[in-house]
Amino acid sequence: MNLTWCNLNRVVGSNYRVIRPFDPWSSPLCTCPPKYSFSPYTGCAHGCLYCYVDYINQFEKPRPKKELLKWVEHDLGLIKKGSIISISNSSDPYQPQELLEKNFRRALEIISQYPLKILIVTKSDMVLRDLDILKKVRCAVTVTITTLKEDLARKLEPFAPSPNSRLMAIKELTKNGIRCGVRIDPIIPYLNEGEVEEIVKEVKRMGALHVVSSTYKAKKKNLLRMIEAFPEISRKLEDLYLLHGKKIGNSFFMEENRRRELMETIRIVCKSEGITFSTCREGFPELRDSQSCDGSHLVP
Ligand code: SF4
Repeated sequence: MNLTWCNLNRVVGSNYRVIRPFDPWSSPLCTCPPKYSFSPYTGCAHGCLYCYVDYINQFEKPRPKKELLKWVEHDLGLIKKGSIISISNSSDPYQPQELLEKNFRRALEIISQYPLKILIVTKSDMVLRDLDILKKVRCAVTVTITTLKEDLARKLEPFAPSPNSRLMAIKELTKNGIRCGVRIDPIIPYLNEGEVEEIVKEVKRMGALHVVSSTYKAKKKNLLRMIEAFPEISRKLEDLYLLHGKKIGNSFFMEENRRRELMETIRIVCKSEGITFSTCREGFPELRDSQSCDGSHLVP
């Protein structure tokens, strides 16, 4: 058998408990390098309308994984030196209770004792709390920013930290020598597509080195939430996704030309700002200007 990263996960994946080989549901559109994925929490309190992982029961009530620290230690014993751990791909590691309970911080303290690379993916400026640890390890941070408009962010990501606090986090991380990328993800037609130039310029000003972007993919639950929150564009979204779009896996994508146009627009701005660019799960590998799509290459 030809062992790819994904089927390697299926063969040995059952040995892992909380830090697992990353397997993006075998998506042929995923261009991520081999890496491990760690989500300290099940569920997420940020409440993003476009969330793709809300199929989990009581998703909006995050809880730490059971016996988190014990299984972190266990899994770290299985992971090869120098591997990348991406934290996290399916919920934010900085949940509200993290402030008091410090579940992730304790896990990070353990991980930091191993010769591994860490890529943090977050929407939260709470990442700055862990600067003392991050400065001692090989790590990079990607911060997700979908809009700079506070009013749009309040509707789209009601309980997530504000766009301005995320920009400040990038600035502070960069000032402390932590390399940062930004996820402009998702780009939602009629909502934030007109802001991309401004976002790229602003994150560059804060010190970000890389942008990875992806268009909104419609699933039944997230589309219903979007339609309810933004009735003025509901018809247009339905036309774009359900009438003219294409179903790939479990999601509806916009037509390829429309997606490509959006991604090319951001790429051009990134080029003119001197910042690298990649798409995420769009199927346009030729639009990638960086060693990795997800920002793994930022980890020193
Ligand atoms: S931060 Fe991510 S996981 Fe959390 S609600 Fe938003 S999209 Fe979902």
